Amino acid sequence: MNSFDAIIIGGGHNGLVAANYLQRAGHSTLVLERRSVVGGACVTEEVFPGYKVSTTSYVCSLLRPEIIRDLELRRYGYEILERNPSSFSPFPDGRYMFFWKDLKKTCEEIAKFSAKDAAAYPEFERKITELASFVQPLLMSVPPDPTSLNPSEMVRSLLLLLKVRGLGKGIYEQMRMFSMSVADYLALWFESEALRARMATDGVIGAWAGPYSPGTAYVLFHHVMGETEGAQGVWGYVRGGMGTVTQALSLSLQAKGGKVLTNAEVDHVVIKNGTATGVVLADGREFSAKRVLSNADPIRTFLGMVGEKNLPAEFADGVRSIRMRSGVVKINVALNGLPNFSALPGEKLGPQHRGTIHIAPDMDYMERAFDDAKHGRPSERPVIEMTIPSSVDDTLAPTGKHLMSMFVQYAPLERKDGKEWNEQTNAEFAERVFSIVEEYAPGFRSRVDAFHVLSPKDLERDYALTGGNIFHGEMTLDQLFFMRPLPKYASFRTPVRNLYMCGAGCHPGGGVMGAPGYISAKIVDKDARSPRNWF
Ligand SMILES: Cc1cc2nc3c(=O)[nH]c(=O)nc-3n(C[C@H](O)[C@H](O)[C@H](O)COP(=O)(O)OP(=O)(O)OC[C@H]3O[C@@H](n4cnc5c(N)ncnc54)[C@H](O)[C@@H]3O)c2cc1C
Repeated sequence: MNSFDAIIIGGGHNGLVAANYLQRAGHSTLVLERRSVVGGACVTEEVFPGYKVSTTSYVCSLLRPEIIRDLELRRYGYEILERNPSSFSPFPDGRYMFFWKDLKKTCEEIAKFSAKDAAAYPEFERKITELASFVQPLLMSVPPDPTSLNPSEMVRSLLLLLKVRGLGKGIYEQMRMFSMSVADYLALWFESEALRARMATDGVIGAWAGPYSPGTAYVLFHHVMGETEGAQGVWGYVRGGMGTVTQALSLSLQAKGGKVLTNAEVDHVVIKNGTATGVVLADGREFSAKRVLSNADPIRTFLGMVGEKNLPAEFADGVRSIRMRSGVVKINVALNGLPNFSALPGEKLGPQHRGTIHIAPDMDYMERAFDDAKHGRPSERPVIEMTIPSSVDDTLAPTGKHLMSMFVQYAPLERKDGKEWNEQTNAEFAERVFSIVEEYAPGFRSRVDAFHVLSPKDLERDYALTGGNIFHGEMTLDQLFFMRPLPKYASFRTPVRNLYMCGAGCHPGGGVMGAPGYISAKIVDKDARSPRNWF
């Protein structure tokens, strides 16, 4: 049978979430994934024999609890492993800072650097949690269009306005959070450079921005909106790697009767009289559907699979203007032993190995790292976030061995240093990163058995992430909420009738959250039940 109620282009976690909710609502669904495995940027792959590697995303917190519950993901293998401490930050002067689950213990760590900051930190956490509880309900619904004259849209805009008013003075904090640089924002709260740098790493993650770039405070906020087992802002590992999430989604979908096809790259969407009626694969196979959803990013979807000739010129111009830059390099490393940090020596498993290990000693270091990339060169001294998930999950590496994930910034997609990304330049960059880690953990290089590098080029080519952008579009204020992916098109509908978006390029954006897939399915279901409801 080649005909379905809904076809989903792309088996990333959002595509699979959308398919699950549609199938649950009684629509027959087919997911078409170009790679040989579903998951997109949320996947486990065996890049070293005997290791289960989360090749791209590596920690989980944002995945919405209602999705985990509704789709029974635990029944299909999803299990989150808590990390306590959540982070370890060694500094060049030999000091270090842990962040623990226990607030009091974290404050004791901060007090090693500043008693004043230790006193301020609980209020900072309280404030962030309060703001997160304001934003969280907005994550799972379509943003209202403030320009629409449609009565129901006007009511939704008004309700939002009333909600904002309900924040009282909190609105000032919210505006600061949305518009300031993470460096300036943290300076409002804390005096310790070490603490500010530790926290600013979350403000630049995946961003084409340094800590002094306006808008990065929001990225920090975006990363505290999740939860792990009910604990706000806490990130965990997924047992078996991040691919367990998407495998669970795929199993849940298939148990409901949904279909998944891998090695199925969509070449184009079939459009008749301005209406999407199906897709044609690169190998010529054809599938028809009442509705088509795209989990691919907006550039690939509209400029690739739909084609400008099928779009209003103004819309196509808008799509071309979506910024998709990123400076992320992912390095996965097979280790024959744990790193021995000078700041907290020990080759046996200790708390310093369990959480995220930051190498970003101060704000200038981070800004300089971005400066290099801004001028077309990979950072001379990059910002490095390392995790060793095998420290809490014994299913990932052979006995006695460990798996390390390195999320490294910054490296431009297009280099201006006369080099191109290839196997050799990937290895050169990895060696640069290893030599910096060596400064903090002497002997580290000899622990490396094998490594696997994903440059921005590799992320673009192998994982279909245009520009190497890990969020399907930069997460800046002008590309968020009712502006994501474009103003007037935040409703998941597109100018092509019966074609919808369902990936991270839509509200509320990137990360393994599932929200875009969830909202999209609700909209598609609603339209299927009352087809005149377009726009
Ligand atoms: C290196 C890296 C590290 C990250 N770390 C984290 C992290 O630790 N935690 C976190 O929460 N988030 C992290 N992220 C971000 C997060 O992984 C992504 O934002 C999220 O997975 C995007 O999900 P998605 O389903 O919207 O899109 P994707 O996962 O990109 O899925 C889109 C799918 O569509 C497929 N596709 C594209 N074109 C076609 C076509 N023509 N035909 C068929 N299929 C097609 C792709 O192959 C892909 O499978 C990271 C991302 C990267 C790249």
